[in-house]
Amino acid sequence: MNNKRALRAVLLAILCMSAALCASAQRLTRRAQTGARVQIVCAEKVYGDVLAQIGGDAVEVFSILGQPNQDPHLFEADASVARRVAHAQLVVYNGAGYDPWMSQLLAASRSPRRAQIEIAQLAGKKTGDNPHFWMLPNAMSALARAAHAVLARVDSVRSSEYDARLADFLASLKPIEQRIATLRARVKGMPITATEPLADYLTQALGLRMRNARFQRAIMKGSEPSVADTAAFEDDLRQRRVKALIDNAQTTSGHARRMLKIAHASGVAVAPFSEILPAGMTYQRWMQRQLDVLERALFP
Ligand SMILES: [Zn+2]
Repeated sequence: MNNKRALRAVLLAILCMSAALCASAQRLTRRAQTGARVQIVCAEKVYGDVLAQIGGDAVEVFSILGQPNQDPHLFEADASVARRVAHAQLVVYNGAGYDPWMSQLLAASRSPRRAQIEIAQLAGKKTGDNPHFWMLPNAMSALARAAHAVLARVDSVRSSEYDARLADFLASLKPIEQRIATLRARVKGMPITATEPLADYLTQALGLRMRNARFQRAIMKGSEPSVADTAAFEDDLRQRRVKALIDNAQTTSGHARRMLKIAHASGVAVAPFSEILPAGMTYQRWMQRQLDVLERALFP
């Protein structure tokens, strides 16, 4: 190799290296501008929807319980769920014994980088309390604020975007709160029953009188309701002592299905509810739809 050729080769190598450096510098700048998407795992799909509303396209949300044919009270996590939790930057879960597998997975893969939000803690509830916290409007605004605080910290470049989306979300809860207040004036004191204690926080907010609570708790836990409680429930339906039956269509218990049949046969209005956010629906739309269903049952 003569000197000229050697020099050309060296120059070419330097040129290539600087081009490569430029490209990687560009990549770094782009990454700093747009940021990588914050990885979030939610135990329940309804919380995943709230996180997606607060995070927008800056986050990637994976929800574990999301199948309409699932009974969340009976779910067990597998290895793929464990992997998702191990790699998440933020994990959101219900707590209060609703998703005990999540606290186990969190304990099994400790990570100082990962933030956690437990709805039970936000709502000031504990194991033994009714765990259907998405029916508690205050819990959802508390979740939105907690999610905002985490996102604004781990992805501070976009904190103003998160501020705007939190404000939009909180404003979107107002029509639901107003509707509950208006409906309460019409339904307060009406007796009602349910196959599972899914909507208790909502019926309490409406001032409805819930009957057959013990039967419903047994169904929720997957245990047998007592003979006396079952007979009392049947009587309520046959004598039409309740205005409506809220049915959680995701409880597979034969006892619950039987009560549904008796309600139909006795002419008691049925309000079909679901435990999991239906596909393609936001939390707000879902709440409005469930209030539609309940209102139709109470005022046929
Ligand atoms: Zn339930």
